[in-house]
Amino acid sequence: MATLLDRLLFAQGNKCFFCRRPLATGEASVEHLLGRSHGGTSADANVVACCRSVNALFGAMTVKEKLRVVLEQDGPFRCPVPAAQPAPVAASSLPGVAGRHPAVRPADQRAIVTAGADRARLDALIENLGRRGASRPRKLATLASTVNATFGKQLSEDEVQSLVGALRAEGLVHVNGEAVTYSLPATHG
Ligand SMILES: [Zn+2]
Repeated sequence: MATLLDRLLFAQGNKCFFCRRPLATGEASVEHLLGRSHGGTSADANVVACCRSVNALFGAMTVKEKLRVVLEQDGPFRCPVPAAQPAPVAASSLPGVAGRHPAVRPADQRAIVTAGADRARLDALIENLGRRGASRPRKLATLASTVNATFGKQLSEDEVQSLVGALRAEGLVHVNGEAVTYSLPATHG
């Protein structure tokens, strides 16, 4: 017997209700337009099949909030890219490290958001190191702990190394063995 999801997918031509891209059963889920937590039922009139990612995004939103999400999109609606898909952003692909990003394709949006967050961290780090003047760390290990301390020691070892790598890629930090030197822009004020 066909499940509700199968029936909905069939009725929608095996496409996502929101983004209208072809949708396999394994990537689809049932979205309650009026959420169950808001009293919505599983009657056909209240359910659609859609990408799991947009179902997760909608969560317990009200219908009004969901409509806003859909209407706020520029151009055709695109469901969010599932978290498992985007490749990790290499330091060398950060904006400013390897030049400006070319036109952004929708599938890359999540990756660009990550790059933006890394860029913000990198800028904060450059500012912090700039302010330290002569008291900048002289050893790689000290630099790593300074990087982590800049962000309240909340970073993973990978994140610390990625930021140090980005500083080196921008030519701001030079590492020779364990010794660290700087070519930081002059800090004003
Ligand atoms: Zn979709």
